[in-house]
Amino acid sequence: MLLRLLFFFVLSYLIFAFVRVMLSWLRRQGGGGSRERPEKAEEMVLDPQCRSYLPKGEAIPRGGHYFCSEECAKIYLSKGAG
Ligand SMILES: [Zn+2]
Repeated sequence: MLLRLLFFFVLSYLIFAFVRVMLSWLRRQGGGGSRERPEKAEEMVLDPQCRSYLPKGEAIPRGGHYFCSEECAKIYLSKGAG
């Protein structure tokens, strides 16, 4: 009876180990090999008018500079032109 219990224990352990191996194998197959995906860190730009950093995607490009708003762009460019 004890032997039967031991057999059952070993069998369940083997199934567990097999599942683990299968999972790691599947992950390797479907992963595509790219373990380190570079994070798409957005570039930060400095608003020369109010001196605040903001993501380039949200910035307003004017005259070679990036601004947080139209107001800053207007003020800065009018200063620079004058
Ligand atoms: Zn600004």
